[in-house]
Amino acid sequence: MANQFIDTARITVRSGNGGNGAVSFRREKYVAAGGPDGGDGGRGGDIVLKVDDHMSTLLDFRYQRKYTAANGEDGSGSRRTGRDGADLVLRVPRGTVVRDAETGEIIQDMSGDEPFVLCRGGKGGWGNKHFATPTRQVPRFAKSGLPGRTREVVLELKLLADVGLVGFPNVGKSTLLSVVSKAAPKIANYHFTTLYPNLGVVYVREGVSFVLADIPGIIEGAAQGAGLGHDFLRHIDRCRLLIHVVDVSGSEGRDPVADFDAICQELQAYSPQLAARKMIVAANKADILEDPALLEHLREHVESLGLELFEISAAAHQGVQELMDRAAQLLQELPPVAVYEPTYVEPLPQIDTSAALDIQQYDDVWSVEGPWLQRLISNVNFGDYESRSWFDRMLRESGLFQRLEEMGIKDGDTVSMYNLEFEYRR
Ligand code: GDP
Ligand code: MG
Repeated sequence: MANQFIDTARITVRSGNGGNGAVSFRREKYVAAGGPDGGDGGRGGDIVLKVDDHMSTLLDFRYQRKYTAANGEDGSGSRRTGRDGADLVLRVPRGTVVRDAETGEIIQDMSGDEPFVLCRGGKGGWGNKHFATPTRQVPRFAKSGLPGRTREVVLELKLLADVGLVGFPNVGKSTLLSVVSKAAPKIANYHFTTLYPNLGVVYVREGVSFVLADIPGIIEGAAQGAGLGHDFLRHIDRCRLLIHVVDVSGSEGRDPVADFDAICQELQAYSPQLAARKMIVAANKADILEDPALLEHLREHVESLGLELFEISAAAHQGVQELMDRAAQLLQELPPVAVYEPTYVEPLPQIDTSAALDIQQYDDVWSVEGPWLQRLISNVNFGDYESRSWFDRMLRESGLFQRLEEMGIKDGDTVSMYNLEFEYRR
């Protein structure tokens, strides 16, 4: 289907690896061996998400599912730093919720304008120029870059609208949106004309406006996945107010009270929070009302539930202004559009620290490297206390310090591992 509305996608992203630092020595005409001048490796590119208001679906992510940012380049002699890997910026429609694919927990809600770094690139390794001191003249080591990381995430579009239209197919939701806003949704006299959500801005008066969303009609059993409707209900999750449109004309032989109840049950089954949202009722197609009793029964029913009813004709533009005025007035008192707080907590990876690390000594510097150490360091967030203590614990438990002791490390010596250096203290 051309112009398909795609509102979920599962993708794999990978940030770039950091480049390696270089081991190099300056060559000068009259000096046998100059000082160390190996440059640092460049940083790996990040995977960055950014809102693009020209996008309205996640369709692009169905065609391409893997995204990799560039690696940093290795450093080289003459103190040349390797070039940083370019960040990869993925543009998403506003309202895209990013979840961890495995746990379903929310990593980020892309509702604002701030770019979000989903995966940081690996840091570049230090070149040997960093290890030159008067007492340490021939540092023959440099640091490897840290690897980038891979994440699998689910993108889910949840539109940002103040007011959501709900109701059966064909009751006049799209017509209503088209007469109160500049949106031009498809309108036709058959069910399921709306295959994707439409947003429109309703200008009530100077300085007062709101966003209205028209989603495909909910049908009975939608919340159980029986039709299209269920997939689309997520788009009104954030709405502050619902306008429940009911066809009261009787032209299709439907009972407005039964219709109203059926939709309310669908909302309840999908999400009790959504069902509890503030709602007003629009009794539509009043211009072709066949039996006034249908409207009156609905009014009694709705009012007994404490809800307000507006008699309108979307097609004839009757009662529509009053309905929009009331919606705008209610919105002033309702909480703002929901933005989801991240719930995802990065689990600590399982790292086997039993393999021996490669230790090289040069004067008072002890350079330590090895695959598990590389993994460990790239998983530590040094700005976070808990993460740092986890790192300390893992190092201690691995027996590294005991080995360094056996090899003769002294207090005040430097332990150097990847992008990290610290003074050794027993
Ligand atoms: P939706 O499926 O709820 O979006 O319904 P539509 O807006 O597509 O309308 C379905 C049909 O009902 C179309 O033929 C509209 O012209 C018609 N319709 C919508 N509102 C009114 C109304 O107020 N009066 C009359 N007579 N027809 C309407
Ligand atoms: Mg429609």
